[in-house]
Amino acid sequence: MALNHECAGADRKKPNVPEILECPQCGEEIEMWTDETEKKCGNCPYVEKRE
Ligand SMILES: [Zn+2]
Repeated sequence: MALNHECAGADRKKPNVPEILECPQCGEEIEMWTDETEKKCGNCPYVEKRE
């Protein structure tokens, strides 16, 4: 029987990094982080959603 030595909160496999996207409606840069599933454009009502 193996013991798990995982610390709480240390089980994320992907690092949280920003991804720069371009708004398809106004061309504004949208900074979406890895842990975010949707992000509103700062310049228009468009909301970028991750699949
Ligand atoms: Zn926009």
